[in-house]
Amino acid sequence: MNPVSEPITIRAHNLICLQGFEGKGYSPEFIELMDRIHRYLSNNRGARVIVTNRPDNFCHSCPHLDGETCMGMPSHSRSEIGDLPDSATLMDNRVFEILEITPEAVYVWGEILNKIEQNLLPVHMDYICGTCEWRESSHCERTFRLGG
Ligand code: SF4
Repeated sequence: MNPVSEPITIRAHNLICLQGFEGKGYSPEFIELMDRIHRYLSNNRGARVIVTNRPDNFCHSCPHLDGETCMGMPSHSRSEIGDLPDSATLMDNRVFEILEITPEAVYVWGEILNKIEQNLLPVHMDYICGTCEWRESSHCERTFRLGG
């Protein structure tokens, strides 16, 4: 990661997951990467981020990724996922909608934080996260202003 010129590509739902990250994840590589990016962004509100709905580096360090598809436990029903490749993509698309983010556009990290602060409401947790396995064991409720 070049901290000056290279934007970091992050899939949309991981923008939200990063907020509640507390050292847990799908593999040691995944956790190490989340920790590194989390610390970097926390200290660099001016960092540039490309927001996507495709697998990002977090996904590529996750054992559930098969090609371009997340084979992990779906967080949403089959009918909600519809023709999309997986539940992760549905989550991404819902984050685009709620945060009013343009797919593949470059944002400054501080802009993303402002959008989360201004747009994300408690009611959006079920809509975006569904039955995500990390709901109970992370700080994600705080991101949606549901907890402490
Ligand atoms: S509950 Fe799951 S999908 Fe929602 S922010 Fe937390 S880790 Fe991400």
